[in-house]
Amino acid sequence: MSKNWRPATKLVHGGTLRSQYGETSEAIFLTQGFVYENSAAAEARFKGETDGFIYARYGSPTNDMFEKRMCLLENAEDARATASGMAAVTAAILCQLKAGDHIVAARALFGSCRWVVETLAPKYGIECTLIDGKDLANWEKAIRPTTKVFFLESPTNPTLEVVDLEGVAKLANQVGAKVVVDNVFATPLFQKPLELGAHIVVYSATKHIDGQGRCLGGVVLSDKEWIDANLHDYFRHSGPAMSPFNAWVLLKGLETMALRVKQQTENATKVADFLAGHSAVAKVIYPGRKDHPQADIIARQMTGGSTLVAFELKGGKNAAFSVQDGLDVVMISNNLGDAKSLITHPATTTHKNLTEDARVELGISPGLLRLSAGIEDADDLIEDFDRALSKIGK
Ligand SMILES: *Cc1c(COP(=O)(O)O)cnc(C)c1O
Repeated sequence: MSKNWRPATKLVHGGTLRSQYGETSEAIFLTQGFVYENSAAAEARFKGETDGFIYARYGSPTNDMFEKRMCLLENAEDARATASGMAAVTAAILCQLKAGDHIVAARALFGSCRWVVETLAPKYGIECTLIDGKDLANWEKAIRPTTKVFFLESPTNPTLEVVDLEGVAKLANQVGAKVVVDNVFATPLFQKPLELGAHIVVYSATKHIDGQGRCLGGVVLSDKEWIDANLHDYFRHSGPAMSPFNAWVLLKGLETMALRVKQQTENATKVADFLAGHSAVAKVIYPGRKDHPQADIIARQMTGGSTLVAFELKGGKNAAFSVQDGLDVVMISNNLGDAKSLITHPATTTHKNLTEDARVELGISPGLLRLSAGIEDADDLIEDFDRALSKIGK
């Protein structure tokens, strides 16, 4: 039954485990451990002969509800909830690799994700080739006999480029590599990587899943066979588990995610259209617009635009700072997916650690701003931008 529910219904009811009290809202089980009726019951639990929890680092009831709800939404067989998005990314990549293995990754990645594959993995003898993921030929060229993982983000941060997920999955399957997709920017509502052929999906639940700027979280989803063979032991023994309290906050976040993302996307669309018509703006990159350079791929693999808009000002850094400082409703913050509209200047914040060349390669110019649209009234956002843009250079 629940498998056939539409996403908004899954988000409200999916995975709920009611205690003997029949509570309406999901309960928080803030417990480290679990007690057993007798010695034989403990032995059977440890042998895996009976279902149930053993220790909160392995799994616990509130986290289980969150994982089950995410599995339903993603049509995944199994999942593990982690303390942050980066814990999810690191676990998903490292748990399946050993020294001598090779990763191919699209270079347009969230900063910390890029550090994990470019700097951390090589310390342990895992090599990585970073490519421009837009062109499928680059993926094919980078393959080595030792390639085990393809890693990518689509749409990317901050320039909202997309990668052809089906094309990449086909190439990976030819060489037996696993495709790991960081699906944060698309949200689970607008893109289903597993259905497009990817093997593993990761989220920073900190973003749209919480959606109200409260707590960190992450999740790794895949088929049961991959999780049992790769993530299960890594997760138990290296300890990236989510706090049950955060799992509860995130469950409540999921309940309203479809409503929020719908409103955020409508707002993003309206602001993108407004910005595209403004004389101070050099270009607007928004996956929901027909003038996106990869609109054909977006139409094939996504069912909605995005809650994020990237745009470049003609006046470079000075104009970008002037616009940010002139906004009243929209706040300056490097976070995203929040109910509050947030704006950031990637070149001096999220991507300041890249070399100038790397920024140029990624299209992160001094005039680029990234807006994460919130759930405010779109007219207030447009008026805010109109005012801020009129103040450039004044
Ligand atoms: C935020 C983010 C992450 C990291 O998540 P945290 O919860 O901050 O650890 C990874 N990938 C993308 C695309 C993100 O936006």
